[in-house]
Amino acid sequence: MRLRALAKINLGLDILGKREDGYHEVRMIMQTIQMYDVLEIKKKKAPGISLSVNYPYIPCDERNLVYKAAKLLMDEFQVKGGVTIRLEKFIPVAAGMAGGSSDAAATLVGINRLFKLGLSERELMDRAVKIGADVPYCIMRGTALAEGIGEKLTGITQVPECFVLIGKPGINVSTRAAYESLNLSGIQNHPDIDGMIQDIQNGDLQGMTAKMGNVFEPGIIGQYPVIQEIKDLMESHGALKAMMSGSGPTVFGIFDSQEKMDAAAKILRESNLAKTVFGTRVFNRI
Ligand code: ATP
Repeated sequence: MRLRALAKINLGLDILGKREDGYHEVRMIMQTIQMYDVLEIKKKKAPGISLSVNYPYIPCDERNLVYKAAKLLMDEFQVKGGVTIRLEKFIPVAAGMAGGSSDAAATLVGINRLFKLGLSERELMDRAVKIGADVPYCIMRGTALAEGIGEKLTGITQVPECFVLIGKPGINVSTRAAYESLNLSGIQNHPDIDGMIQDIQNGDLQGMTAKMGNVFEPGIIGQYPVIQEIKDLMESHGALKAMMSGSGPTVFGIFDSQEKMDAAAKILRESNLAKTVFGTRVFNRI
């Protein structure tokens, strides 16, 4: 069985506070994009999970979210036999694009189908949050408001037609470190998430992009100025807006035409500011 695990960007990312259990209360507009890892899942007779990944430094044992997801369902349902999983990564790692979370989501969907466990999407999402706050969203996909720690999801109408340019510099940012270095009382500009939802519902791409914001940006850009350079390059070459996704360092630019995006992608590649440059579109749930 072959599955695609799609990446996400955050069109808006706000943090409201820190809970007593250490998690942060967030308000984010999530958007799936057409950039994906590929998973190949097969049954095997011998029990256990054999995972291989086409990417150095990513663990293939219980530290991998794919392994965790497979184990969660296989243990709960006492599945006989085992699975062999081959993961091909295309989504940049530690990049703010939920690569690992999306791989875990695809694994839950795949194991459910392969062993005919009969779980509904809702039931899979309830289990997904045990693996990570973004995993339920990666099962749902599309455009959504994520609240709580990211697991309370409300679907939003799809965004107006647009083109998304991804530019990831050759640095990695740990999500945990980004949260730890965040000064909550120092956040000056909270993005207008409700206004963005209105704009999306009205099909107003200009309005939506004008309101985009990510409270992680000032702190992370302070440490890695190349992120600002990529944003500036995209915005001076046709992007309606360019912003960092999640806790970075990936930057995405929103364009209203493919020609403009392709032209900006060429210039970004020539600049050598970004290690990964990829032009794509959003993915809609329906
Ligand atoms: P998010 O947007 O959710 O913050 P991210 O892009 O910052 O995600 P990931 O690429 O998902 O981060 O993974 C970060 C770390 O998790 C890596 O250092 C990696 O070792 C570990 N990891 C575990 N499972 C996976 C996986 N399936 N794919 C990638 N990384 C994984």
